[in-house]
Amino acid sequence: MNCEELLKALNEYVDGTLDLTQAECEQFADHLAGCNPCQIVVDNIRGTIQLFRAGQPYPLPPEFQARLQQSLRQRWREKFGAFVLNHEKHERHEKKKEI
Ligand SMILES: [Zn+2]
Repeated sequence: MNCEELLKALNEYVDGTLDLTQAECEQFADHLAGCNPCQIVVDNIRGTIQLFRAGQPYPLPPEFQARLQQSLRQRWREKFGAFVLNHEKHERHEKKKEI
């Protein structure tokens, strides 16, 4: 799994359309363990999701939830759209040598 795939999977997770298999979860965790930028993304999103769960004992109104998901995806694209591509190239050249 590369950064792009991980971000796509997370995007679908935020949308509520993703069902991760066990193998996918492991790939996900493997990538996260070695990729600091992706760790930051996941932490941000996890924080957002936990916050609204902790603050609201029942599901948010669908309208609000849709807006939250939309703004998450937008911030994501702004923050990582260009960055992911650069990071991927970098990773492909340097990663395997170190291990
Ligand atoms: Zn990554």
